[in-house]
Amino acid sequence: MNSAPTPIHFLFEDENHNRIYIKREDLLPFSFGGNKVRIGLELLEDMRSQGCDHLIAYGNARSNLCRVLSNLCAGQGIPCTILSPADDDGTVSESFNQRMCLSFGAEIVPCLKTGVKATVEAALAKSRASGRKPYYIYGNSLGDGNLITPVKAYRKVWDELLSQQAQLNLSFDHLFHASGTGMTQSGLICGQLQQGGGTSIHGISIARSTENGTAHILRYIRAFMGDEAIAPAIDFVDDYAMSYGIFSPEMADCASRMMRLYGLPLDLTYTGKAFYGMLEEIRRRGYRAQNVLFVHTGGTPLFFDKVGVSIL
Ligand SMILES: *Cc1c(COP(=O)(O)O)cnc(C)c1O
Repeated sequence: MNSAPTPIHFLFEDENHNRIYIKREDLLPFSFGGNKVRIGLELLEDMRSQGCDHLIAYGNARSNLCRVLSNLCAGQGIPCTILSPADDDGTVSESFNQRMCLSFGAEIVPCLKTGVKATVEAALAKSRASGRKPYYIYGNSLGDGNLITPVKAYRKVWDELLSQQAQLNLSFDHLFHASGTGMTQSGLICGQLQQGGGTSIHGISIARSTENGTAHILRYIRAFMGDEAIAPAIDFVDDYAMSYGIFSPEMADCASRMMRLYGLPLDLTYTGKAFYGMLEEIRRRGYRAQNVLFVHTGGTPLFFDKVGVSIL
């Protein structure tokens, strides 16, 4: 599946003549799209290049990454195991992503957040004992052995963005997107470090603090670029961060409004938070007559989880 580039379209102009555009990564044509399709494809390619035949992931079964990985594995006949933590309060909530993971035949193994290392090691050992060559998406049982692979996905998107700006005869002053683990943001930053481009990159944190999120992004950048890479300015805004999946009534109103006005689905875990945060930051920072691009990172099944509950 090589479907890039994803469409960029104009959304609206605000009262200060800022023009808001959107890049529709949610329209990537596999499994409801989103940034996890690009990241998942990089992981599967890396798995194959290592001659492995069993994918082991860690992540909440309601996450977009687990849905995309289990879908890719189902399509390619590769067994997929998901080591899945419960929520902080101990509950495992029903969601479309989780149901899809189960339908795709992924094996879901409960995993305490305090016992990840042991659970990963047990899963790897079990897989090897059954004659398979397992591939753990985060490298080693400490989760720091495979930093470069996921960065590749949005490193490539930076080139795509440069050529789309040339084609559209447009240059974006600012780019905003929902930032979680930092795989997406670090890929974009590495692209800018290597290829240039004047767009300021802003991550709106969905959960992590600025300090923690920035440290993770730096780790990815150093892994990809080498330790000698000059530390770039990283804008990782935590003013809109809340616990994973928690959102404010203003965020829900914003998501409902965007759906009504533009038919644009925004979920309340990632893109709805980030879109609301972007509009707030544009106001707070006093932007005028800027071209602003929102990168819609997907999460459409999470949007449906909230239809009739918090959205519309
Ligand atoms: C995972 C995800 C993000 C965050 O991407 P990171 O690379 O983890 O920072 C943003 N939006 C959606 C819809 C996601 O699924």
